[in-house]
Amino acid sequence: MPALIQVENLKKYFPVGGKLLVKQWVKAVDGVSFEIYEGETLGLVGESGCGKSTTARLLLRLEEPTDGKVLFEGKNIYKLRGRELKEFRRKANIVFQDPYTSLDPRMTVFDIIMEPIRVHKIDVGDPEQYVLKLLYEVGLNESHMYRYPHEFSGGQRQRIAIARVLALRPKFIVLDEPTSALDVSVQAQILNLLKDLQKKYNLTYLFISHNLAVVRYMSHRIAVMYLGKIVEIGDAEEIFESPLHPYTRALISLIPVPDPFQARKRKKLMIQGEPPNPINPPPGCRFHPRCPFAKDRCKKEEPKLIEYSKGHYVACWLYS
Ligand code: SF4
Repeated sequence: MPALIQVENLKKYFPVGGKLLVKQWVKAVDGVSFEIYEGETLGLVGESGCGKSTTARLLLRLEEPTDGKVLFEGKNIYKLRGRELKEFRRKANIVFQDPYTSLDPRMTVFDIIMEPIRVHKIDVGDPEQYVLKLLYEVGLNESHMYRYPHEFSGGQRQRIAIARVLALRPKFIVLDEPTSALDVSVQAQILNLLKDLQKKYNLTYLFISHNLAVVRYMSHRIAVMYLGKIVEIGDAEEIFESPLHPYTRALISLIPVPDPFQARKRKKLMIQGEPPNPINPPPGCRFHPRCPFAKDRCKKEEPKLIEYSKGHYVACWLYS
């Protein structure tokens, strides 16, 4: 599979204390490199504040980076201007977590879906037929076309948000916790819809969620972030069956198991303490203050992401 997106040494530092009196920086994303292949889902996991959402915003150029680059179809997105930038904005889009706030309450479903098409001046033939086709694609129908968002359930609103993104015929979609605001009963339906659409249109997803069971279900590969860095990346099943980094092992050991017998057998690895302050991250391995395996070297030298087995990368001195 060719890489649709190549991320190279991407950094995003936010100033603390306003731009004039900057003495310190929050290193939200601090030198990450990875690829996302065409037609795959890359899951991005980690605790809140680890840099997942900032990474996603950088990939869509909703933020400018402090350093590094993102190549989309081989072109650096931060150098795009004019027509090329507009085309990138058509091809790369996002479905937000909260379908209650992401839709304009004063617009009908028809206008919500047509709005980006009008902005991008795309010729779709008969607009009603085009919107109707999209509604069918996401499990809605003609009776929904001229209703307002408040008339729909959370799951239906998320279907409208997906139809709006699909309307632009994108290649890449960031799914930022797309089901976490929904009832459990409808979460699986939306996840299955996203999978079906991916197969049909060869869509590429970056899937962000704090729910690891959902990430496993959705993702082909998984990247684990800790304090602005990627500490492990690889095939989703391999990461869940044989996690390498102590942080990944701890995260996975804490996933609830439905079978009480299996749950008794499973050893939980608790992560001690809170994540350190991203303004002043610890030297060496950033995970060392919380790691049960930390040695002296971990406190002084930062481990690099190395390929431990084919396609499975980890940043930890236990494997170097
Ligand atoms: Fe733990 Fe050291 Fe590995 Fe960091 S490098 S995760 S501190 S063993």
